Amino acid sequence: MPTYEYECINCGYKFEKFQRMSEQPVSECPECKGRVKRLIGVGSGIIVKGSTNSTRKSSSSCSTCSASSCSTCGNK
Ligand SMILES: [Zn+2]
Repeated sequence: MPTYEYECINCGYKFEKFQRMSEQPVSECPECKGRVKRLIGVGSGIIVKGSTNSTRKSSSSCSTCSASSCSTCGNK
C-alpha cells in the first residue's frame, strides 16, 4: 500500500496517508479544512529548463559581408 504525501495549499501543513490506489485522494486539510494537493514522488514533475541563451551574434554584424566587423567590406 503506497504512502501518499499531501500538502495543504492553504496553510502549508504536510501529512502522509496510507491509501490504496483505488481510494479517493484526500482533498481536505485536517488542520484548517483547506484544499490539499498530493505531492508526487521525487523525480517526476520537475521541469528542468535548459539555458537557451541563443543570442545571435550575427544580428549585429554587417548585412553585406556578414562579418563581425565591417573592416572586411567597409560597409556600415
Ligand atoms: Zn491547511
